Parts: sequence; C-alpha cells; structure tokens
Amino acid sequence: MLGTGQPPDRPADVVIIGAGASGSVAAAALTGAGFRVVCLEQGEWSDTADYMSAEPEAELAWHEKWNPNQNIRRNPADYPVTGDADIHPTMYNGVGGGLVQWAAMWQNLLPSDFRVRTLDGVADDWPIGWNDLAPFYDRAARDMSVSGLSGDPAFPELAYPNPPMPIGRSGMAAARGMDRLGWHWWPGVNAIASRPHNNLNACQRRGTCIIGCPENAKANGALTHWPGALEGGARLITGARVREIALDRQGRARGAVYIDRNGAEHLQEAGVVILAANGAGSARLLLMSTSPQFPDGLANSSGLVGRRLMQHPYRTVMVVMEEELDSWEGPWGQRIYSLEFAETRPEHDFVRGAKLHVCPHGGPMFAVYDHHNAHRDAGFDGLWGAEFHRAADTVFGHAFTWGVQAEDLPEESNRIILDPEVTDSDGLPAVRAEYRVSENSRRMLDFNAARAVEAAEAAGAVETSVSSIWPTGISHILGTTRMGDDSSSSVVDRWCRAHDVPNLYIVDGGVFVTAGSANPTATIMANTLRVVERMIEQRRHQESAV
Ligand SMILES: Cc1cc2nc3c(=O)[nH]c(=O)nc-3n(C[C@H](O)[C@H](O)[C@H](O)COP(=O)(O)OP(=O)(O)OC[C@H]3O[C@@H](n4cnc5c(N)ncnc54)[C@H](O)[C@@H]3O)c2cc1C
Repeated sequence: MLGTGQPPDRPADVVIIGAGASGSVAAAALTGAGFRVVCLEQGEWSDTADYMSAEPEAELAWHEKWNPNQNIRRNPADYPVTGDADIHPTMYNGVGGGLVQWAAMWQNLLPSDFRVRTLDGVADDWPIGWNDLAPFYDRAARDMSVSGLSGDPAFPELAYPNPPMPIGRSGMAAARGMDRLGWHWWPGVNAIASRPHNNLNACQRRGTCIIGCPENAKANGALTHWPGALEGGARLITGARVREIALDRQGRARGAVYIDRNGAEHLQEAGVVILAANGAGSARLLLMSTSPQFPDGLANSSGLVGRRLMQHPYRTVMVVMEEELDSWEGPWGQRIYSLEFAETRPEHDFVRGAKLHVCPHGGPMFAVYDHHNAHRDAGFDGLWGAEFHRAADTVFGHAFTWGVQAEDLPEESNRIILDPEVTDSDGLPAVRAEYRVSENSRRMLDFNAARAVEAAEAAGAVETSVSSIWPTGISHILGTTRMGDDSSSSVVDRWCRAHDVPNLYIVDGGVFVTAGSANPTATIMANTLRVVERMIEQRRHQESAV
C-alpha cells in the first residue's frame, strides 16, 4: 500500500535492503554477474573527513557523534532500541553499516561451532558445516584486504592476502603470559590493510579505528564493495527507509515499500528481495510486514522471527604493566587472540567457550576513563586531582585490554519485538529487546576473565581490573531469523531463503543458528557469498536451458 500515490520505481532483478556488511557483498557479487540490483539504505554515505579520528579530540568523538550506541548518537537514520535487556543491541546505520565503526577483527568460526548439538548436546547444529563456507571465507578475506599470519593451529588451512599487522609491545607482553602458561595465542587477524591493497591504503596505526578510519585502511563495504558495484550498474538509494515488504496475490515478495528522506513513499519492485538489515533490522522489518496471510509478520510461520537473539556477552580485563607498551598504538583491531578456552571441556561448569583477544588501550582519555570506572567508589579525591594524574601516569602508555567474548547459546525468550509506543523519525516502531545473559554465559565469562587475569599476572602485570558485562554489548546481533531444514523450527532454509516466501532471502547475522565465540562478520560475509553464488549459478542454468 503506497500512501502518497507515487509511481513504482523501475523493477529490478533484486532489491537488497541494507547496504551494510552483507548487503555490500550481495550487491557487488550480483551486479558483477549481470543482475539489475537496487539497494535501499536508510542511512547515508559517511565522509572520511568527518571521522575526527586524526584530530586531537578524537577520543571525545567516541562519546558523541561517533558513539556506537544509536540511542546516544541519534543520527536521522538511527532507530531507537528500547526494552529491559541485560545487553542492548547497538549498530551503525549508513552505507557500510556496522563496518563504518567496527574494530575489524576478522575471525572465522571453528568447525565445532556448526555442530554443538552433536558434540555438546546443546542448541542445534547448523544445516551447513565449516567446509561449505571454507572457499567463501577465503574469498571474503581477499575482498576485505585482510592482514594476518597463516599457520594458526586452530585454522591450518587459512591464508591471508596481506602480512599481519605488528603485534607491538602490548601484544608481545600479553603473549609472554600465554607462553608461560602454555596457552594458545596467535597474532591478530584484522580486515585492515597492512600495505596498500585493492581500494585500501596502508594502516597508519592511529588506533582510532572504531570512530572511523581516516586513512581508508580499514575495510568497510563502502570502500571495498560499493565502488565496483556502482561502476557495474547497481543503484544504491540512500535515505530510503523500508517500512514493509510488499507481497503479490500469490504470496511472493513483490518488492519493498520505502520512505525517502522527504517522507514520500515508493515501491521498489523486484523479482527477488534480499534482507540485509542486520539481526535487529531484518526481524523488525518482517514483524512490520503483516498482512492477512501473515498476521504475525512475514516469514514467521515458525514464530521464530525476532527470537533466539544472541549477542556475545563481553567483559574486559584492563592490564597495567610497568614497562612501556605504546598502548595507544593501533590498529584497534586485535593484537593477538586466543582460542585456548573456545570449546567445551569436561572440567568446566559451562558448555562451549569464549574467545580472548588483546586490544590497545587508547589515548589519555581512555586511560583515565577506565581507571575511573574501576574506582567509581573512591570519592572525589580518589578520582580527581593528584590521583587523576597518578592514574594517567601509570595507565597511559602502559596498559592493554583483554577482551573476553563469550559464546551465547540461543534461547527463545531472548528476543526482539516491536515497541508498542516508541517510534523512529518516520513513525515506524522502534525495536524492543528482551534479553537476559544466561547462567552458562555468566560462568563462561567468570572463568575466562579469571584466565585473562592469570595470563596478565604471568606476564608481570602490576594491576588488573575486570569490567562487568558491557550493557550495550559489542554490536553482534545474531540468530533472530535462524536457518534450518525444518520450517517449523527455522525462518530460512540452508540457502537462506525464507521457508514461507520463495523469493525472499535473508543474509545478515540473523541467520546464525548458534553464535560461536568468533566476531561474526567474516562468517556473515562468507555466507552471503555462498548464498548469492548459488543464485547466480541457478540463473546461469535457467539461461542455458532456454
Ligand atoms: C563499534 C563496532 C565494532 C564492531 N567490531 C567488530 C569486529 O571487530 N569484528 C566483527 O566481526 N564485527 C564487528 N562489529 C559487528 C559488525 O559491524 C556486524 O557484524 C556487521 O556489520 C553486521 O553486518 P550486517 O550485514 O548483518 O548488518 P549491518 O552491517 O549492520 O548493515 C545493516 C544495514 O541495514 C540498514 N537498514 C536497517 N534497516 C533498514 C530499513 N528498514 N531500511 C533501509 N535500510 C535499513 C542499516 O542502516 C545498515 O546500514 C562491530 C560493530 C560495531 C558497531
């Protein structure tokens, strides 16, 4: 239903909703294969000059315009996330999606992550395995100019197009502790170019990656995929907020109804609709797309749209050493990572595991900020004046952070629904998150944070301080439209096609069956390639049969 009498836009072969990580991949691959692609993105292009990352006040930007929490940032493209949740989903909305602000840690899932029901008796197995993704992990790493060292015993077959970034003094110090304990670690793999590669320049190691890379060295679909897609004829419409997936009389997707930045409605028709709006945005859009045929939301006959939300509960351990660590130095990015405790062990009181990674500690603001967080109860004199200077002296340049990233098992009560009252700037319902961190995740975090402290002490730390669970999470939004072979217990099939709507696909992180402990984007991008390559193959077959 179009409210304003606008004529429909010219039909496309494929309309993609969302120009983030998965949308960028789908657009580039499909355009390259000759599909007529239109992508609708509610946000805008970011201007590299706007990032502030090279400015002296860069660390302040984190708290304002470039805050990773959309509820604080409040760009026109953002929609609010409300609700009573232990962790609130956060995201960036614009061309490149979360990749504008991501830390670019590039981490593949482990083979066991696809088989947790078989191996550990929990959750479900994926309908696909690691080998189904292997060639696409490889291709995605090349497209994203990933820098890393091959030979990690956890992934012996992986190779990367660029040499690894230096792990620096902080990586060396953290690794020393792991070596003393005999635990696995490996130099960090990051989608940051260590040398000029494809469209990316070489990293200048500012360490301000999360507020946008001023050098264009951090991979982001806006740089890595969109230039080629646009040159190949894709049409990317920004400021276009999709409010509904329209259906035809047969119950097939007809296209997407969107609101442009002037408030006018349009229908973009297409033969195929691909949802790439992330684990929150795609579930939201399906729940908004109600009709007599789908009163509970589109593609929701299983009742699982929005459910099984997984977010990688996260804690950090700040480690202060006496030695000089140049701890402001980038990338940020992971220096090293460890998968020592990423899988189930019989002696643990929890199943599955966590990934540990070392990040830099940032500039003077971050140094003092962390100190203040750790000593909140110290009173005015304990936080300011001489004590403030002491904290800056001991922490700045001498610290690094162990990130503790827990695998989050899916639970149906953890979910995204539509907020009945709060809306975005177009009057569309906000997302409401209902989410509790499970006992399994809490134990996993306690255990792994204690291991990070142990490793820090083995390295010679003079101070460690463990954070509580980050309430705004780390922007990993997974599981809300899970894939599976059984239409009663999944939203999309193994090819990410909606069980209920044959020409509707979902390719973002919502399709994850379980979360593993790896940062998800490598898998999101590899899986998108797997899905769209099959669409391309199917069309080739159809054409050759004519
Ligand atoms: C600060 C930060 C750090 C991160 N660090 C890492 C990391 O180190 N490693 C890692 O693997 N991952 C990291 N992530 C997560 C990573 O960014 C996401 O996993 C990834 O971007 C998800 O890809 P996606 O395609 O599912 O969705 P997104 O990239 O979020 O893209 C979705 C797009 O859809 C658009 N959209 C949504 N709804 C609509 C609508 N109704 N109409 C039109 N457009 C719409 C949005 O505006 C957005 O641009 C980080 C994220 C953040 C924010």
